[in-house]
Amino acid sequence: MSIRIQNVSKRYGEQLALNQVNLEVKSGEVVGFLGPNGAGKSTMMKIITCYLPPTEGEVQVCGFNVMEDPLKVKRKVGYLPEHNPLYLDMYVKEFLHFAGEVHKLPQLKKRVNEMIELVGLGREQHKQIGALSKGFRQRVGLAQAMIHDPEVLILDEPTSGLDPNQLVEIRELVRQIGEQKTVMLSTHIMQEVEAICNRVVIINRGHIVADGPTTDIRRMADAGAVILRVEFDGDETPDGLVMLPEIIEVQPEGGNSWKVKAKGGTDARKAIAAWAQQNDRLILTLNEEEQKLEDVFKQLTANR
Ligand code: ADP
Ligand code: MG
Repeated sequence: MSIRIQNVSKRYGEQLALNQVNLEVKSGEVVGFLGPNGAGKSTMMKIITCYLPPTEGEVQVCGFNVMEDPLKVKRKVGYLPEHNPLYLDMYVKEFLHFAGEVHKLPQLKKRVNEMIELVGLGREQHKQIGALSKGFRQRVGLAQAMIHDPEVLILDEPTSGLDPNQLVEIRELVRQIGEQKTVMLSTHIMQEVEAICNRVVIINRGHIVADGPTTDIRRMADAGAVILRVEFDGDETPDGLVMLPEIIEVQPEGGNSWKVKAKGGTDARKAIAAWAQQNDRLILTLNEEEQKLEDVFKQLTANR
């Protein structure tokens, strides 16, 4: 077992951030730790990486207890903290060298070069960290987290604040890393988990509310309604739309725009496009809203 969390609670004064959390992560798993802001994700990750002690309960990483054997745990774990705090005035190589020295690594120069290669920092390797884009800074953070070749990687919101291109690149990099290592990554974006993880653990207000294969959680999310926004060329009411079996409700949004509620798991966009064609209506835009994590939560917690 790579990570074993038993009855862990964490209090910050009066605030209960984690409430009796139990979780086991097997070697080689890539787990998405999904939850809204304030759910307790970062707190759990800080406890696993020995940055914070639990108030109650036990955490083991690769068999070592975080309270009793923190040095051994740190050797097994790589950690990319939230907001990736880097030394902006340091150079990429200098920083990775420094990160390796902390772990007393032999042949550090070679190792730094390997990491630069691995995370795709070749062209940026001589730059100052402060001069790098957010996406490249995340690569530096990932290289730092992996420099001592840990078995377990803990990545706290590794894609937050990235632009869409950087986001795709970092997700792909994490996915590749996940083929070699046990990874736990936190996010509040459902799609991110689907892109990278084979298992999802959902946390809400310090409680684990769901845990299962990504495909199962997706199915639960699909059962819910999907919201689409359609903009037509011309402001006639699209009367027949609501008659389609995929569509639940159509509401005006002002101008030529309509908010369409469709059944989950159906191909509502195709149905709307076909309807428009048959009825001589031109669609200017047709967008599906991102599946809201809150909706998934509501379904998962409805009967609890
Ligand atoms: P997440 O990473 O899921 O957004 P956090 O673990 O950061 O959640 O926070 C969980 C809860 O604990 C939140 O209610 C947050 O306000 C609180 N919290 C986090 N860190 C501290 C702290 N250092 N002192 C007091 N409360 C904290
Ligand atoms: Mg957090």
